[in-house]
Amino acid sequence: MLPERSAAFAERRKNSRDAAMSTRNSDGTRASGETSALRAPWEPLPWRLAEEDLETAQRLAAEIRELAAKKNAVILAHNYQLARVQEVADFVGDSLGLSLRARETAADIIVFCGVHFMAESAKILNPGKKVLLPSLAAGCSLADSITADSLREWKARYPDHVVVTYINSSAEVKALSDICCTSANAVSVVRSLPERKILFTPDKNLGNWVKKRVPEKEIVVYDGVCPTHDVLRSASVRRQRGLYPDAVILAHPECREDVVALADEVCSTTGMFDAVARHPEAKTFIVATEWGIIHRLKKMYPDKEFVMADGCIGCRLHCPYMKMIDLPQVRRSLEEEVFEIEVPQDIAEGARRSLERMLAVKRDS
Ligand code: SF4
Repeated sequence: MLPERSAAFAERRKNSRDAAMSTRNSDGTRASGETSALRAPWEPLPWRLAEEDLETAQRLAAEIRELAAKKNAVILAHNYQLARVQEVADFVGDSLGLSLRARETAADIIVFCGVHFMAESAKILNPGKKVLLPSLAAGCSLADSITADSLREWKARYPDHVVVTYINSSAEVKALSDICCTSANAVSVVRSLPERKILFTPDKNLGNWVKKRVPEKEIVVYDGVCPTHDVLRSASVRRQRGLYPDAVILAHPECREDVVALADEVCSTTGMFDAVARHPEAKTFIVATEWGIIHRLKKMYPDKEFVMADGCIGCRLHCPYMKMIDLPQVRRSLEEEVFEIEVPQDIAEGARRSLERMLAVKRDS
């Protein structure tokens, strides 16, 4: 495509997107607070409820809260969950924040609205609780990219290396690791280790980002990626920057190196909420992570504009696993107490050691 045609095409996309967003925003403004949260106007269409379904969603949300109170259950939701699931939760956060909440909760039941490895971590950190994952389809491609056997092979190849494993991994892999980390504390975790030689698993992009920030360590990075973040190309981010030249770019470190290099702030999902506050002069933020985060960003900063880094409405920066849970699944989970997450004791013990060691390290600054 010729440059001028490309610019015209990008401008048309921007105009049609702005028109779509303004229609949705006025929709959201007209509705009551609860209604707009149940049908967040910036969510891609398949996840927006039709008018006739709003009543059902409100009824389900009320039933969920009633069941949670009756059963002394706490509902935890990740920042990438659907807006209406975030709204019905007691606490919304990133992997680190949710792990801490799971460990500290006095509730009898933890309903984990996230993906399988998160619910598994909650069970490991608080084994006396009943931990429920509302949908067993909520897996994670990144966690699946490393198995206990593949880690054993890597450990055999790098016998002098200490293993730092991203929390996005199975309990078996955590049990074979020396320490875990999340995107909120990966740099601090690596710096906290006395050893110089590190094997970082499984996320290649996060590992390479840590490697740059901690050059004094010798870090070997495993070959896994999160497809949701790895799909984003710097060309898309540059196009968005062209359309919003004064915008601040926020990127998750699971993005590719060339994308991270364009970012003004590289942080975990929760870190993004603080990052916005560091730029009071900015009106627009280009967000390079899963689109579910837009709900909380909009809630916290209603006067700011947030646009997706891929220039899309969520077909690319979209994690299908995080969207497996909706209000009917949460309600069923509470009512029937499904699907209970169990971790064999020997594996849980090893994984708990790696997780607890991680929790003793502070968040990255
Ligand atoms: Fe896994 Fe990526 Fe989805 Fe997170 S966004 S659950 S790392 S596939």
